[in-house]
Amino acid sequence: MGAIWKICRAILLTVVCLSGAARMPGDTIVLKNGRRILALSVTQTGDKVTYETASGTLTLPSAIVDHVERGGVPSAEGAASASTLSLKPPDGEAATALLSPNQNEIELRVIQNGELDRNYVAQLENEARSGKGLANQNAAMAHHAASQFELLHGDMDLALADARTALNYAPQHPVLLMDVAYLYLRRSEYRQSLEYLERARRVAPEDPEVSKLAGWAYFGLNKLDQAVAEWKHAESLRPDAEVEAALKKAERDKREEEQYKENESSHFTLRYSGASEPGLARDVLHALERHFAAIESEVSYSPPDSIGVILYTQQAFADITQAPNWVGALNDGRIRVPVQGLSNMTPELSRVLKHELTHSFVQQKTRGHAPTWIQEGLAQWMEGKRSDRNAPALLAIYRSDPSLGSRHFAGDWMKLSGVDASAAYAWALANIEFIVQAGGMGDVDRILDRLAAEESDEAAIVAVLRNDYAGLTQDTAEYLRKTYGN
Ligand SMILES: [Zn+2]
Repeated sequence: MGAIWKICRAILLTVVCLSGAARMPGDTIVLKNGRRILALSVTQTGDKVTYETASGTLTLPSAIVDHVERGGVPSAEGAASASTLSLKPPDGEAATALLSPNQNEIELRVIQNGELDRNYVAQLENEARSGKGLANQNAAMAHHAASQFELLHGDMDLALADARTALNYAPQHPVLLMDVAYLYLRRSEYRQSLEYLERARRVAPEDPEVSKLAGWAYFGLNKLDQAVAEWKHAESLRPDAEVEAALKKAERDKREEEQYKENESSHFTLRYSGASEPGLARDVLHALERHFAAIESEVSYSPPDSIGVILYTQQAFADITQAPNWVGALNDGRIRVPVQGLSNMTPELSRVLKHELTHSFVQQKTRGHAPTWIQEGLAQWMEGKRSDRNAPALLAIYRSDPSLGSRHFAGDWMKLSGVDASAAYAWALANIEFIVQAGGMGDVDRILDRLAAEESDEAAIVAVLRNDYAGLTQDTAEYLRKTYGN
């Protein structure tokens, strides 16, 4: 139990990083000396402030507490996760540059009563065939408005298609260039994004939004020097709290990584402390490339850009991630792995790498729409875990109350107690194992594709398995009984 629990807790934090975006549920305690403490929940009684953290319950004297901020607090990892999760569409100076003199009228006509009028968009596009300047501007404006609408409704593919079409009608407009750059960023296609940002920079050289977005693109590409330079430039043009937080985080990473060496393979950029055994970095890259090929063929997807991996000594890992010291590894956009004392690859390290790498694939393939249970179920399955040892306990839970087999489908595992979290991991693995056994990896692929298309998670399950969550639970229990006995 001890070892399993340790791993589960390690994985639990990873979930938070993946699904928590830049905000986690919880409160912030602000001390009189200005220090801020993030907590899951805070209660004040008499002269004490008690708060829950992932590593337990802690108490502070009220005298040193200035105030408590309730509700979603920016997470420690928020800045990094935001590169894929909490980006806001650009809203800089350029955004006020008019796309068309009929801008307002077109916007009102394109979106009527909460619906997108594609006929009207097509009509303006037809008019643009006449080749007149104003007609082109109107068509660009219509597609820009359509793109914003699709983005708001979560259809990233259509949003990108409209943004790119808009650009055909006004190829030099900075707003449209940034629209496209932003959407590529959201898809983790950093190089593509930078191409459009370079074009935007040529027409709007002093726009802070261009530098802000370019910073995210470089951060995603693991190019910290350039990310820091872009964000510093953005801050000099216009201070922005989000950029400031991102800059702080990137500078902290950069200071640590300055002593690091860098190694590259075809799909990874690896940074590691100069103190690490040189052979280890090479072994890690080999293992990662092997896992990459395996996961790529299993989930029929290939991440477009190089994936950043950082090997830390244990202490540096805790300092940089500000994660509790029981945390095994993290994936907050870059894969961070502590390797203290290791001089060569071990089966355990290889499994951790494959687990974290699976998160990167799932995150990118579903564009951030995979529920926690699919992320963790699939990551465990890929690293080679199976339900044999968990089956008797899961079946006993299920016999006592079948609804306990469905609780892990709810999104937020942060609220679960320790025992429930272990059970959640075990159920998630059992569900994925059942799905793969019954319909092959193809079913998992189809579920991921539907999630990428922004279907709700249960709708994706129903569409592929012809069964809802209750049915999946029942089938999973039946599978456990048949496969592992009772
Ligand atoms: Zn995980």
